[in-house]
Amino acid sequence: MGTQAEKKTSHSISQQSLLLAKQARMEMMENGCITVICPKCQEHPKITTTLRGERTIVICRCGYIINVDINL
Ligand SMILES: [Zn+2]
Repeated sequence: MGTQAEKKTSHSISQQSLLLAKQARMEMMENGCITVICPKCQEHPKITTTLRGERTIVICRCGYIINVDINL
C-alpha cells in the first residue's frame, strides 16, 4: 500500500501541472486573463503562441506548469 501511495503522489503532481495548464488555457479563452497561480513560484503562467500559431505554450516562471499544445 505504501509504495502505491507514493507512486500516486508523484503522479498527481504532474497531473496537477497539466490540469493547471489546461485551466489557464481555458481561462484565457473565456476571460482573456489567467487567474491560475503556480503552487511553486506563486506566479501566473503565461500563454504564448508561435508565429504561425501552430503551437500554444503554457509556461510559468519556474517551469512547474508547462504544456505545449499543437494546433494543426
Ligand atoms: Zn511556477
